[in-house]
Amino acid sequence: MYVSVRVAKEKCIGCKICLSTCPEANVLLYIKEEKKVMVNESRCKGCGLCVTVCPKEALTVGH
Ligand code: SF4
Ligand code: SF4
Repeated sequence: MYVSVRVAKEKCIGCKICLSTCPEANVLLYIKEEKKVMVNESRCKGCGLCVTVCPKEALTVGH
C-alpha cells in the first residue's frame, strides 16, 4: 500500500507546477472554482516528485 500525498489547501496558490510533474494520470486535479489542487488519493503512488517542485511547500507525503 502506498502513502498518498496531501495538499495543504491554505498554502496552495494554484500555480499548477505539480500537475505537470506527476507521472501518474489524474492524480493531481486542478479545481478551477477554488484555484487549488486536490489529490485523488486512491491513484497517488506516493513517489514524492510533486513535493519537490511545489514552491509553497503545500504538498507532503507520509504524514
Ligand atoms: S506523490 Fe507522485 S504520484 Fe503522488 S501526486 Fe505526487 S508526483 Fe503524483
Ligand atoms: S505546485 Fe504547490 S502551489 Fe502550485 S498548484 Fe501544486 S500544490 Fe499548489
